Amino acid sequence: MSDRKLLAKQKALVTGANSGIGEGVAIALGQAGADVVVNYVEGDAAANAVVDKIKQFGGNAITHKADVSHEDEVGDMFDRAVREFGTIDILVNNAGMQRDSAFSDMTLEKWNKVLGVNLTGQFLCARAAIREFLRRGVVPSVSRAAGKIICMSSVHQVIPWAGHANYATSKGGIKLMMESMAQELAPKRIRVNGIAPGAIQTPINTSAWDTPEALKSLLTLIPYGRIGLPEDIARAAVWLASDDSDYVVGTTLFVDGGMTLYPGFSTNG
Ligand code: NAD
Repeated sequence: MSDRKLLAKQKALVTGANSGIGEGVAIALGQAGADVVVNYVEGDAAANAVVDKIKQFGGNAITHKADVSHEDEVGDMFDRAVREFGTIDILVNNAGMQRDSAFSDMTLEKWNKVLGVNLTGQFLCARAAIREFLRRGVVPSVSRAAGKIICMSSVHQVIPWAGHANYATSKGGIKLMMESMAQELAPKRIRVNGIAPGAIQTPINTSAWDTPEALKSLLTLIPYGRIGLPEDIARAAVWLASDDSDYVVGTTLFVDGGMTLYPGFSTNG
């Protein structure tokens, strides 16, 4: 990670930041100079460890336990963030989950749970962040934008996924929510973008990489020939949150080793 403090003086909130991609993003934002709210829903020790890591290199961070699918908890979280840090400049809408099922067996509970966390959770956090960005406006000594939102999507915002219809639907929804927000809020100098990770080695998809056979099969889907790491996503998030990407509005950055290049066609279909 670069030593350039691209995010100096900025305040960030990362949801689902005590594991996997969110953990990597929170640490990278801290390393880039931001103060960070480390949101999580369970796992106090892991959340505290992320805060400790950020503090080890001189950053400032706090944990905040909240379920992003609950409106009151999201409201309390943003109130606390503004109380402790003065404002929020960056939201990384990262919290997400899978509850897989064949379509014919999928319960309404599994459907609602995944849509509630992955899509409604992003809506609730984005709305709270946007209200704060609009209240504060642009502070040129901090950033050229009034605020930045990064929506963690997935290659499954474009690739259909049998057995995971609730998850793929949530990610397809994130794409158009992100683009609609970006269109509506760009005139207010709020930048909204997405990141679509491919296969990243985290607890969400352990079964896809934890045996040599599973990994070999996964790699047939990745032209670049390796599984992704949280750091791959974290570097993209730092860039999208910084003024280095100031003219990037409403785009999804695919960080997927080429997974969306239809690798099945690489030998002539
Ligand atoms: P992970 O399971 O390691 O992390 C998910 C995080 O979300 C955890 O911190 C968890 O506590 C949190 N979370 C879950 N429900 C929550 C809730 N109700 N409120 C607050 N936090 C909640 O998985 P990950 O791979 O790091 O996933 C992070 C994001 O990246 C997700 O949105 C996921 O869909 C997306 N993603 C991951 C991959 C991958 O290959 N790992 C690929 C594409 C997209």
